[in-house]
Amino acid sequence: MIRRLDPGTRSKIAAGEVVARPASVAVELVENALDAGAETVEIEVDGDGTDRIRVADDGRGMAESDAALAVERYTTSKLSAADDLETVETLGFRGEALPSIAAAAARLELTTNDGGPRGTRVVVDGGGDATDGEHDKTVSPAGRARGTTVEVTGLFSDRPARKKSLASPKAEFARVSAVVTRYALTRPDVRFVLRHDGRETLATPGTDRFADALLAVYGRDAASHASTFDSSREVSAAGETAAVEVDGALCHPEVTRSRRDHVHVSVNGRALAEPRLRRAVADGYGTLLPDGREPVGVVRLRLPPAWVDHNVHPAKDEVGFRDADAVAEAVESSVRDALSTADLRRSGEVAMDLDSSLAPVEAASVFDDLRVIGRFRGLYLLCEAGDELLVVDQHAAHERINYERLREAVESAGIDAVSVDPPATVSLSPTDAALLDANRDLVEKLGFRVAEFGDGSRSGSGTGTYRVEAVPAPLGRPFAPDALADVVADVAAGDDADPRDELLKDLACHPSIKAGDDLTDDDAARLVERLGSCETPYTCPHGRPTVLAIDEETFVRGFGRRSGRLG
Ligand code: ADP
Ligand code: MG
Repeated sequence: MIRRLDPGTRSKIAAGEVVARPASVAVELVENALDAGAETVEIEVDGDGTDRIRVADDGRGMAESDAALAVERYTTSKLSAADDLETVETLGFRGEALPSIAAAAARLELTTNDGGPRGTRVVVDGGGDATDGEHDKTVSPAGRARGTTVEVTGLFSDRPARKKSLASPKAEFARVSAVVTRYALTRPDVRFVLRHDGRETLATPGTDRFADALLAVYGRDAASHASTFDSSREVSAAGETAAVEVDGALCHPEVTRSRRDHVHVSVNGRALAEPRLRRAVADGYGTLLPDGREPVGVVRLRLPPAWVDHNVHPAKDEVGFRDADAVAEAVESSVRDALSTADLRRSGEVAMDLDSSLAPVEAASVFDDLRVIGRFRGLYLLCEAGDELLVVDQHAAHERINYERLREAVESAGIDAVSVDPPATVSLSPTDAALLDANRDLVEKLGFRVAEFGDGSRSGSGTGTYRVEAVPAPLGRPFAPDALADVVADVAAGDDADPRDELLKDLACHPSIKAGDDLTDDDAARLVERLGSCETPYTCPHGRPTVLAIDEETFVRGFGRRSGRLG
């Protein structure tokens, strides 16, 4: 039953969610459908989403009296008193989503049936700023099977500033796609269908198998190189302990992306873009990941509601934890254990040495006084420089050198493209496909030529399959066709950064052009020399350090010596 929250409870809830963009509407409606126990959720978006968003579910629906109340402010069936806030297990609890959406839109139409012979339609017209009072609402009988459909049209039609702040329709749809994908992967038991302008872009089967959901989103390659896991960890804070259940599916390290947004996490059923948890997942992969690459996977956390505070963020993007570090550690170790037992045979990677094709060093090296005295684990070069011990990260150094060389070559000669013959087949996730669509010009300017391979909806998997006919080949080094997904994401994220530059960074870090780990002494000396002649020798293209210094003082203190000189 839906009731109105009392003012005391309201005051304890973080200020209402802002309907910032079409994707926020999609999240709220999808979460309502999941709270209603839906097995199928269908999302339709027209244009940028301000034209029309419609979410239909087969959940438990509402009786007429509840349907009429649901669009009012602070009315919810999910919370009855402030005390419940500690233990709330539903995705919603504030009773603000439907009225906020209605106020931001020209029209909200809710059609619902709780299983009775007749359903109910509630229409809120005109939008305007619905305060605590009533708005223009009509309630009438309607035919509908059990479940609920909410259709929102004319979003922001009377908020021109808000509407103006939106990105292009394709970019706004990509945001919707990203949030729907997050739920589709963390709730493989629910069938999700997403359509844009009538075209199906995502369809998961709702079989409750991660592999099936991954297949629908990322294609066969990723789905067939993934392992599921299920584990439990104890965490304690302030003398209390609790169990954190962690489960999900992790793609093996040969399936990677350049960005971390393909780590999909949920906490007690809420799918979140939580940077700390995503980082914990990546940390769990540790050195299994090639440098500069990010994993693809789904990780779900379950912990007692009292240990989680979903109320810290108005848009519920982030959550608070009683002990965030302990939770991150539980995630990291679960992922690490899962991967250590997974079958992780790598497909052989060919190491090509880019340096051999490059001009010799001309600029003076800042590491002139430096001598390579040894190597550690095939990864680090130990160097003596005055009274410091320098540790050079071999991979990071190589990336920096590659990057600066590539940049120089591209500045003088541009990026060549070479055709791929026969064309390579690459599948993009629905979100990446939408981003490609939105940024096709830029992607093609970089040297890719891409043709769509039939219609994603035909296969039923919803995955967009593309034919890559040409790839960029700076310095005659062709890009791997499946780097398309990374490039698309880079270009789309390209804030103010030059997408060509992002491309070069990726290429410089791509495992296929980095030297192998077993350098000769000469190679090692040359690497350090080249690093020294770089414009920015101390960081890799993605900003991580290339060199760490340990001064002699550290050893003096560590060994309990009295003076800085040996004696
Ligand atoms: P909240 O989710 O915070 O309770 P909302 O404004 O999103 O607030 O929804 C108000 C109420 O309407 C919910 O508590 C729920 O009872 C009902 N409701 C909303 N959407 C649905 C749906 N898809 N199916 C069934 N009930 C729904
Ligand atoms: Mg809600």
